[in-house]
Amino acid sequence: MSKPQRIALFGATGSIGASTLAVVRQHRERFLVVALSAHRRWEALVPLCREFQPSVAIVTDPLAAQQLAAALRVEGLATAVRAGADALVEVAASPEVDTVVAAIVGAAGLPSTLAAVSCGKRVLLANKEALVMAGQLFIDAAAESGAPLLPIDSEHNALLQCLIGVVDRTASGQWSLKEGRQQVRRLYLTASGGPFRTRDPATFAAVTPEEACAHPTWSMGQKISVDSATMMNKGLEVIEAMWLFGLPLSAIEVVIHPQSVVHALVEYHDGSVLAHLSEPDMRIPISHALGWPERIASGASWLSLAKRQTLTFASPDSARFPCLSLAMQAAEQGGSAPAVLNAANEVAVAAFLARRLPFNRIPSVIEETLAAVAAQPIDSLEAALTADHLARRVAAEQVRRWEA
Ligand code: NAD
Ligand code: MG
Repeated sequence: MSKPQRIALFGATGSIGASTLAVVRQHRERFLVVALSAHRRWEALVPLCREFQPSVAIVTDPLAAQQLAAALRVEGLATAVRAGADALVEVAASPEVDTVVAAIVGAAGLPSTLAAVSCGKRVLLANKEALVMAGQLFIDAAAESGAPLLPIDSEHNALLQCLIGVVDRTASGQWSLKEGRQQVRRLYLTASGGPFRTRDPATFAAVTPEEACAHPTWSMGQKISVDSATMMNKGLEVIEAMWLFGLPLSAIEVVIHPQSVVHALVEYHDGSVLAHLSEPDMRIPISHALGWPERIASGASWLSLAKRQTLTFASPDSARFPCLSLAMQAAEQGGSAPAVLNAANEVAVAAFLARRLPFNRIPSVIEETLAAVAAQPIDSLEAALTADHLARRVAAEQVRRWEA
């Protein structure tokens, strides 16, 4: 029997973290969890360390790391505790790790995810923001190191599955769409439309964080839930798809599909369209990427089309969801524009969740930040982080100006 895959799960206390561990529990002989990370919620790591006995637990907040270390000592657990974001980068590169599950939310996940790709690890990518910020760096690093970059964002995982007949695959599991690209006409990403697909836009100023986080088909972290409500999530996903599959913006289309059963479609030049269907359950794409290239059980419910009966599709309404157009604009501009878009969005969403900014001002903050920060080339991690920091300052100023 082959050796178990040694997994570092970054963002273990989040929604993707929980779904990943739910899959790992079903395959204890295949996977060994060697590292877990959290940002501040160290208490949530205690039972996970007890259950999975990783060699290391990383807590980015130093005070919370001390508290975790004390708690693990009381329990007599051998897990070493490390503090700070640098520890994530070091563990990502460690020879003790085969696979990094990049499930940290936002730009905070960029350095460790890029480090994992650069070191040739198998990377299960949930952290789409990292790819949006520094797509070219990722793709170049993966090409050089041979790292298999496996999307677990459901739409992108579905696209990879619909492209399976035309991708090249190496022995290490790296896949690429080389000549196969010539056969593809268009990629379709489906979008549920979020909780406000039919709500009167005139009432968007009154949207509460609770309403925005109540997603009709997926249960997710707060930030991505708000991104789904503004449809920025789909904008980020279009950019994610451009980088992963090496296709231009013009070859990627968004289609509204409120039932979240069809996750993506690929249209080929002969007019054939291949679709991926499943119950909306993140354990499915996560299992696909963990098992790749084999199929392993996910624990998700079987899809019953007869029970579902109706699947509907529509074009997105860009007047209702200006964030979608802003993302397309940043994608077209290229360079640091997507990193600026992402940073401004993170600041605006955090302000909205803190009830400091109305929901309908989220796109305004992003638009104004994009206009104020000139796009620069992104040729290094530092350049991506500089664009991110600059855009955060400008966006925070826009929020303050709104409050004044
Ligand atoms: P979440 O908020 O539930 O979890 C986020 C995780 O990141 C937590 O473990 C938290 O401790 C950690 N974290 C937060 N800030 C951090 C920081 N500054 N430094 C280090 N760690 C930090 O989020 P989620 O819903 O699990 O989403 C995680 C990522 O996966 C996001 O990029 C999201 O876009 C992507 N994603 C999520 C889903 C989903 O169904 N939840 C689907 C597709 C893609
Ligand atoms: Mg998605």
